[in-house]
Amino acid sequence: MTVSKGVALITGASQGIGRAIAIGLATDGFDIALNDIPAREAMLKRAAEEVASRGRRAHCVIADVSSEKQVETMVSDAVHALGGLDVMVANAGVSMMRSLLDTTGEDLDRILGVNLRGTFFCYKYAAMQMIAQGRGGRIIGACSGTGKQGQASLSAYSASKFGIRAITQCAALEFGGYGITVNAYAPGPVKTPMWDDLEAGMGGPPGTLEEQLAKGAAVGYVGLPADIAALVSFLASKESHLITGQSISIDGGRFFD
Ligand code: NAD
Repeated sequence: MTVSKGVALITGASQGIGRAIAIGLATDGFDIALNDIPAREAMLKRAAEEVASRGRRAHCVIADVSSEKQVETMVSDAVHALGGLDVMVANAGVSMMRSLLDTTGEDLDRILGVNLRGTFFCYKYAAMQMIAQGRGGRIIGACSGTGKQGQASLSAYSASKFGIRAITQCAALEFGGYGITVNAYAPGPVKTPMWDDLEAGMGGPPGTLEEQLAKGAAVGYVGLPADIAALVSFLASKESHLITGQSISIDGGRFFD
């Protein structure tokens, strides 16, 4: 085993973008704490095995990120198991395609609860740990193209992602003096299981969504989880020290900042 580059904690790491980030950061030399909800425990363990197969330590932490108490416990559990925290990737998120008129209070609370509250608490408890350690760190969130440009039938989701951009900017200002950078990735469409929900909301046959979305990108295709993981690898590196407060578009030329 080579010397560890530090410890990274990734939420929502059992599948999709989070899983690719966990494997990418393990390949870069980080020991990895992987989080997801109880229903995903078996998948999370399989992702942890992938991390371990790269010669790194892997530790699973089950928690619901919408609960402040559970996020606090998740961070201390990861620190206890792996010896510190250098990179926090607040990746967990839920989506919903529903018109504003059909969106209920419960829908709004669920989307904002996981995406916005979850990211907020991950930033908070990761920063508290990193400040106590005194060696800086990297905090990374999951924004979206819909965090920069609203889209029909995505009002609750879009609101959560605009909010993530806001807290990323505020946290960057508050934590910069401690050597902690705070950034987010803002993907366009990335082919992951999250699309199953979106496609179901559209009512079309499988594949309809990918076909439609590919047309909207300058490059003519949609992204894969490994594309986002490559950006996160750079944001997690020492070399990214001058980038902070940014929500970086990675969408094949869909929207321009
Ligand atoms: P996904 O649905 O494939 O995976 C999300 C993971 O988060 C799942 O494993 C899920 O169990 C977990 N999760 C959900 N609620 C949780 C909770 N309360 N606590 C802990 N974990 C929880 O999604 P994905 O496509 O991999 O997306 C990852 C992130 O990237 C999300 O924040 C998403 O909004 C964002 N994003 C995705 C796309 C895309 O097209 N896939 C585009 C832009 C942004």
